[in-house]
Amino acid sequence: MKASAFAYVKPTSLSDVFELFEQYGDAAQILAGGQSLIAALNMRLAAPAVLIDINSLTDLAGISVSNDTVRIGALARHRSLEHSAEIARCLPLIHQAMPHVAHAAIRNRGTFGGSIAYADPAAELPACSVALDATLQLASKSGERSVPARQFFKGLYETDLRPGEVLLGGEFRALQPGYRSAFLELARRHGDYAIVGVAAHGKFEGGRFSDASVVFFGISAVPVLAVSAAAALEGNPCSPDTVAAVQAAVSEDLEPYGDLYHSAATKLHLARVLAGRIVNALAGTAS
Ligand SMILES: Cc1cc2nc3c(=O)[nH]c(=O)nc-3n(C[C@H](O)[C@H](O)[C@H](O)COP(=O)(O)OP(=O)(O)OC[C@H]3O[C@@H](n4cnc5c(N)ncnc54)[C@H](O)[C@@H]3O)c2cc1C
Repeated sequence: MKASAFAYVKPTSLSDVFELFEQYGDAAQILAGGQSLIAALNMRLAAPAVLIDINSLTDLAGISVSNDTVRIGALARHRSLEHSAEIARCLPLIHQAMPHVAHAAIRNRGTFGGSIAYADPAAELPACSVALDATLQLASKSGERSVPARQFFKGLYETDLRPGEVLLGGEFRALQPGYRSAFLELARRHGDYAIVGVAAHGKFEGGRFSDASVVFFGISAVPVLAVSAAAALEGNPCSPDTVAAVQAAVSEDLEPYGDLYHSAATKLHLARVLAGRIVNALAGTAS
């Protein structure tokens, strides 16, 4: 199948993007890497009258580190996140996650902003953003606003983005002393969307966990911050008892949906398996 006919514009400034939204309203849609949107157009799941290609907005493309803050522009490609020395040093969770995002050809074009705005429930970057408590910057003709990633994902492919708004990027706190990150996912083939995945970040000092965030994805409509699992880690060592407590807590945190291939019960079982592994991975004792 081919896409419905659409007009194509490639503005060179954000103010031009806002003007285009003013002119076309809901009939306009942003095109970033096109790796999700073009497929949706071809399957006629979306039929915008106008595509606004933002790839000339080079200000949205970078990765920068200033003091303790890492800024990832909406147009930063998956490939640049994967190979960035700053990301490896300051945001090891994202560094670990990137090889799981699709395949090399898709990572060459796909963008950070596209992944966050598209909000696929099985995508890696939304989960990492929630685990790292990132802040997302949004802009429209009426100004800029910031939204915590933990409040941005509202439902299945549904976010806090308002009509006429553009995601500019995300801000993350760089890795602090004593903190560690671990990322695990189960997929049918490497590079496929996750069946279930987990992104974890927290302190492991003096042999005990504290201040951990554990986020499951591929299991619900949005990334799930597993607060009971984090509570089961708090103040505890990396031991079989802690692993068992975290695995038990996961049942309180998650209400998995079944999909075409995996029942809800299978997903919960796999989440428990990953919960056990992530405790050891966060402590650096995974084999
Ligand atoms: C075969 C295949 C496998 C894949 N596997 C994975 C996977 O395992 N994990 C994963 O995370 N992803 C996967 N993807 C998706 C890929 O990561 C996409 O690149 C990503 O989801 C969307 O990024 P994009 O830049 O291509 O966005 P586009 O496709 O250009 O846009 C996606 C949506 O976001 C909106 N949008 C884009 N940028 C902005 C912005 N700055 N502000 C506001 N709205 C915006 C668009 O209007 C559109 O609605 C896969 C894709 C394919 C085709």
